[in-house]
Amino acid sequence: MNKIYVVGIGPGSYEQMTIKAAHVLESCETIVGYTVYVELMKKHFGNKEFLTTPMKKEVDRCILAFEEAKKGKTVAMICSGDAGVYGMAGLMIDIGATRYPEFEVEIVSGVTAALGGGSLLGAPFIHDFAVISLSDLLTPWETIQSRLIHASMADLVICLYNPSSKKRHDYLEKACDLIMEHQPETLICGIVKNIARDGETIEILTLKELRDKKVDMFTTVYIGNSNTKRVGNRMVTPRGYEYER
Ligand code: SAH
Repeated sequence: MNKIYVVGIGPGSYEQMTIKAAHVLESCETIVGYTVYVELMKKHFGNKEFLTTPMKKEVDRCILAFEEAKKGKTVAMICSGDAGVYGMAGLMIDIGATRYPEFEVEIVSGVTAALGGGSLLGAPFIHDFAVISLSDLLTPWETIQSRLIHASMADLVICLYNPSSKKRHDYLEKACDLIMEHQPETLICGIVKNIARDGETIEILTLKELRDKKVDMFTTVYIGNSNTKRVGNRMVTPRGYEYER
């Protein structure tokens, strides 16, 4: 069966790509992706054919990848982080099954932003955690609100993707307000910007301070559980809760 690859390239730097992802991209003739990620890959796989489509043109990008593969080329669709975390893996499997059944879609996992940034902060995810995207482009805001409320009621560590965009500049503030209904404002939080890219920065702060922060779309936000602590300039969630057995 013909193969087409969907490859998570990790958060940005070549070193944070898995060896398998690098091998697969090396074996491909054509790499398809969103402009920003294609530019990141050109440095390391310069001899490949690169094809791009803009953001929000995901279906077109999938079709482009399959059409190139139909010409007999080996093709990889690339995504930042992991292709299965707010990425293209689902759409590629869906479109493949309905329109291009002659192809087997192989997904190659990558280091997702939560984990890439988590290691920079320290150890925020030693205990149970939830990952929630604040983007309401494909999810109703009511659903996002409900997930934020339930995750904070359950005292999960919360990692927020897509914390902001031009149209959604106050969503982080709204999210923090909801969480503060169930968690103390002193909760330890973290912000990581441009993980494994130029301009990488980390910051550890309280939930109250996080509420008033302006962040951009290249930022991942970490909200601790009630046990998470600051150790020097690191964010650490203990392995368990201390309790009487
Ligand atoms: N598939 C990607 C996520 C895509 S959603 C992954 O697994 O990482 C896009 C969101 O991911 C951004 O808004 C941001 O919150 C986060 N993100 C992705 N790459 C990042 C990076 N290098 N630095 C900081 N945040 C990043």
